Amino acid sequence: MLAAMAVFFALRGCQAPDELPPVKVYRSKTQQVEQLSLEQYVLGTVAAEMPASFELEALKAQAVCARTYALRKMIEGKDYPRGADLSDDITTCQAYVNAEEFAELHPWQNEQLWAKIQQAVDETRGEVILYDNQLIDALYHSTCGGQTESARELYGKEITYLQSVPCEYCRQSKYYLTEHHFTWQQVSRLAGKGQSIQVLAATSSGRIQKIKVNQKAMSGSEFRSAFGLPSTWCTIGYYSQGITITSRGYGHGMGLCQYGAQGMALQGKNYRQILAHYYPKTQLYKLPY
Ligand SMILES: [Zn+2]
Repeated sequence: MLAAMAVFFALRGCQAPDELPPVKVYRSKTQQVEQLSLEQYVLGTVAAEMPASFELEALKAQAVCARTYALRKMIEGKDYPRGADLSDDITTCQAYVNAEEFAELHPWQNEQLWAKIQQAVDETRGEVILYDNQLIDALYHSTCGGQTESARELYGKEITYLQSVPCEYCRQSKYYLTEHHFTWQQVSRLAGKGQSIQVLAATSSGRIQKIKVNQKAMSGSEFRSAFGLPSTWCTIGYYSQGITITSRGYGHGMGLCQYGAQGMALQGKNYRQILAHYYPKTQLYKLPY
């Protein structure tokens, strides 16, 4: 086993490399901690993070991402409430649902869907993504809109496996291309009086980094949140009474594109091919538990 992970497993009280580490998950609704095994946690995360109707190979790719993301957070020792290892708060970690919550969310066919997700987790048991013998930061998002984003362009941080890659696989997502109309009156309510919009900086794919709306300068994410847009990848058009923002994708655009994973799976690609596409130059590694 990799040195960092072996130490981590030992600290968790695992006596042997084939012992599955326990995980404490903070549940924001109940403010309680649920203790479960890492694989059970991955199951609940895949169930919460990806539509259960997706193809098995897409769910498997998601399972490997969720496991990698969680283990990396645990090894980093991020502080979550009540001494938990992880949280179901998506602003700081990954979403999670248990079997009962999943059944409530899927009143029909919940047993078949849960079994399919279980199969995706079982068939990738212990598998994680590595770059340079380290767990990667396995970022993922709903829909990239045609091109994923690089960490270097978005955060100014060069990360070999978080490069911008083309993705024509997510076209079936309803967020691939969306239009949002705002009258000048609405724009003024959000950004002060005026009728001017100027993109000051954007990544090469077109995701806005800095924008000036009327007198207000905003970062791309502030603009996205103020206007309630699905992503920062926007082009702005004008009409007599206001603006039309054409937005591509949903989410930050880095790493795995979930609808793209589904598109690749529908074209017969397996989870290994999917992960290799979105996280270039990485390897899969199977933990021996
Ligand atoms: Zn995509």
